[in-house]
Amino acid sequence: MQPSKKAAQGGKLEIKTHKSRAFSHLNVGKLSQFIKNREGDNSAKLFLRDQLGLTGMEVSITGYPPDYAIPFFHSHKQNEELYIILGGEGKMQMDDEVIDVKEGSVVRVLPEVSRYLKSAPDSELLFICIQAKEGSLEQSNRGDGVRQEREPLFS
Ligand code: ZN
Repeated sequence: MQPSKKAAQGGKLEIKTHKSRAFSHLNVGKLSQFIKNREGDNSAKLFLRDQLGLTGMEVSITGYPPDYAIPFFHSHKQNEELYIILGGEGKMQMDDEVIDVKEGSVVRVLPEVSRYLKSAPDSELLFICIQAKEGSLEQSNRGDGVRQEREPLFS
């Protein structure tokens, strides 16, 4: 149960992670800070796998300033991605299809698909991206959850 300190990738964001056998917890602070300039990088991205000890997924929180994109397309070898747009607006291209995205947009992209995401000229963009191996999920929700008969330690 030792708290550890790590600097987030690409900036001075101080991360204190609480890890125990039962769970890992961190607070990344105001999500709007992911949009601010940090050390010359005009976007900010935090990967949570190492921070939290994730074993079945990678999760990143990313902010783009207006009119910003990572300047290349990318695909993946085996991971599907789920983009959850938390705020702002932009466009996303998957192979030769372009869609508008905004707060509330949820986009799944197959591994081999070439993708590109850009914030609108007048809008920041804040999103979470979850990567998991395509086809790896064997059960979820009621198939995996097990009801426990306990009382909470708080009210
Ligand atoms: Zn990716």
